[in-house]
Amino acid sequence: MKVSVDRSLCYGSAECAHRAPAVFAFEDGYGVVRPGTDEHADDPQVREAAEKCPSQAIVLTE
Ligand code: SF4
Repeated sequence: MKVSVDRSLCYGSAECAHRAPAVFAFEDGYGVVRPGTDEHADDPQVREAAEKCPSQAIVLTE
């Protein structure tokens, strides 16, 4: 599975970067997926970050 952030939904709470710092970073006011880590969607921390993103901006896809 792949993980990405829909920037049109993200409002910059930075929670993803705190929950799963190996995969998410906080840049220019948005959560971003660190380069080379977008295949880590099966990581429990990534799943939790997606579930708890307050704007449902984290997208997990097959
Ligand atoms: S947790 Fe969601 S709203 Fe907050 S920075 Fe990450 S993607 Fe954006």
